[in-house]
Amino acid sequence: MISVEEARERILAFFQRLQPERKPILDALGQVLAEEIVAPFDIPPLDNTGMDGYAVRAADTATATEAAPVTLRVVGNLAAGYVHEASVGPGQAVRIMTGAPIPPGADAVVPFEETDEVLRGPNQSPTGGDSVAVFRAARPGANIRARAGDVSAGSTILSAGRVLRPSEVGLLASIGLSHVSVFRRPTVAVLSTGDEVTLPGEPLLPGRIYDANAPSIAALITSFGGIPRVMGIARDTVEDLTAKIHQALDADMLVTSAGVSRGDFDVVKDVLAAEGSIDFWTVRMRPGKPLAFGAFRTPDGRQVPHLGLPGNPVSSMVSFELFGRPAIFKMLGRSGWERPILRAIVRQRVVNTDPRRFYGRCIVTQGEDGRWYADLTGPQGSNILTSMSAANALTVIPETVEVVEPGEEIDVMMLDWQHAP
Ligand code: AMP
Ligand code: MG
Repeated sequence: MISVEEARERILAFFQRLQPERKPILDALGQVLAEEIVAPFDIPPLDNTGMDGYAVRAADTATATEAAPVTLRVVGNLAAGYVHEASVGPGQAVRIMTGAPIPPGADAVVPFEETDEVLRGPNQSPTGGDSVAVFRAARPGANIRARAGDVSAGSTILSAGRVLRPSEVGLLASIGLSHVSVFRRPTVAVLSTGDEVTLPGEPLLPGRIYDANAPSIAALITSFGGIPRVMGIARDTVEDLTAKIHQALDADMLVTSAGVSRGDFDVVKDVLAAEGSIDFWTVRMRPGKPLAFGAFRTPDGRQVPHLGLPGNPVSSMVSFELFGRPAIFKMLGRSGWERPILRAIVRQRVVNTDPRRFYGRCIVTQGEDGRWYADLTGPQGSNILTSMSAANALTVIPETVEVVEPGEEIDVMMLDWQHAP
């Protein structure tokens, strides 16, 4: 038996970051920047107003109070997107909207709320070059957003290696970029195997089961940032399996499920060995002890890494979480793949039946005392997919721990932060 860490290390050694591609910024969400992004200009490009109000010379308003307002002559009306070329002279003001550049001469903005703007009747339009009463002194710089207050021209705003989240997509757009260079997403071929496995949508014959694995693994691939290619179901014959595998050879990785444990009809092993190299491991974990890893040879001499997952749906999902997710992240160029680990208090007795690390499906919630609590999601058989569906985390109970009593603390690996699903 090998540890989870050893299996993962051996697997990751096969993978590399993929080549960069250029694509529209929105399509690159979740991908990793392959280039350094330098700002070509200042943001904001000019000093501008953060409020709707009047651009003034602060000194003019020094004595202004509600009882004794200062009256200024309104010499312009400026909307965002336009520039007021003329200077604001002593005793003058320009009516100005949020985002509009500060006219020359002005050094403060008095918000509408501190003027008689709201008291004016419809016949006294403030836009007509008349006057405005200011009720409060403005300090120089008031309500002005400085040029380059966000980004300075020539500065690096995003380094290569950064993951593009919605904020980064916005930042790229704010410097006018429509396309960006990111590391390519891996295409991952997914193949279910087994004579009993039936495509959802088809009638279910006696003794058969629907294919839960290809859809759940494909969904995980998408959620981890890869592109799944669902290959269908290979029958337990050398011919069918060989043909299906040949269809997958242009993918960056192949994932199969089932046929890696000891079973009379498991032809998977023979085919895998004939098509490349393959190792069968027993990994010290529960669920998901059997695992295969190898590489197929392509006619043009490439090697396509192949991860052979166990057949039981929970084993296959947990194994893909532990081994497939890091592989996809490495191909994407992401630096960390670890999930957040919390300490949580278990509320029931957990028995670890043999010396394997127990990834129990659990729901982690925060108690009113602010601490985290973990509850197993019912029976933990590796075929019980509802236990996975009800979970938002996995317990990480060490190989060496036989029993955890209620009230004890354990590590839990958060799969997502939703509470009760
Ligand atoms: P095997 O590794 O072939 O011995 O399969 C282990 C268990 O997983 C068996 O009960 C299979 O029926 C089940 N199984 C295999 N493939 C799938 C699949 N695609 N969807 C659901 N269950 C499966
Ligand atoms: Mg089978």
